[in-house]
Amino acid sequence: MNLILLGMPGSGKGTVASWLQEKYLYRQISTGDLLREERKVGTQLGKQVEVIMNEGKLVSDEMIIELVKKHIKTVGFKGVVFDGFPRTVFQAKSLDETTNIDQVIFLKVSEKIVVDRLLNRSDDSGQRREDDNERVIKERIKVYMENTQPLIDHYEKKCLLTTLDGGVSIENVRNKVKEVIESL
Ligand code: ADP
Repeated sequence: MNLILLGMPGSGKGTVASWLQEKYLYRQISTGDLLREERKVGTQLGKQVEVIMNEGKLVSDEMIIELVKKHIKTVGFKGVVFDGFPRTVFQAKSLDETTNIDQVIFLKVSEKIVVDRLLNRSDDSGQRREDDNERVIKERIKVYMENTQPLIDHYEKKCLLTTLDGGVSIENVRNKVKEVIESL
């Protein structure tokens, strides 16, 4: 069973996806994490995407599709949970051709809440992401509205979309996601 998590930056996709990987054995494919890993290792791709990511723009569809292909492994997993992918209609159509998607969960959160979350978040070691500053957050939200929001329609038409309130506690969101998955 393959899932997609949709939602604005800061809507909680990563938190839910890593929980699904640990608890329910879904393989998490987070294109943002994969890109950050490429940057850390210093690969050619990593170097190419650095400026784009720091500006909150989108990496090219071709690069992203190639990256996802490289990492999509389902052996030993219940399926895949995509987080941060697809992000454009082009990416969604390309995914439609190769992978059967069983459910798309849209974590709906207000802009105010996501801006607050992104301005206040840091990782386990207290590090803050370079793109979590006010100017770039505004850009990421704009890019989301223009490129990713149309996917809600795309999956609604395919009758695959479930909308959940992502503005509540993590535990609450997890419980709702659990209900959706168990009903499939
Ligand atoms: P967020 O959803 O919080 O903005 P991500 O970690 O998903 O953060 O993505 C960080 C950055 O990585 C994006 O701003 C973009 O530059 C790049 N990126 C991630 N996924 C994609 C994708 N599917 N298509 C294009 N660019 C992507």
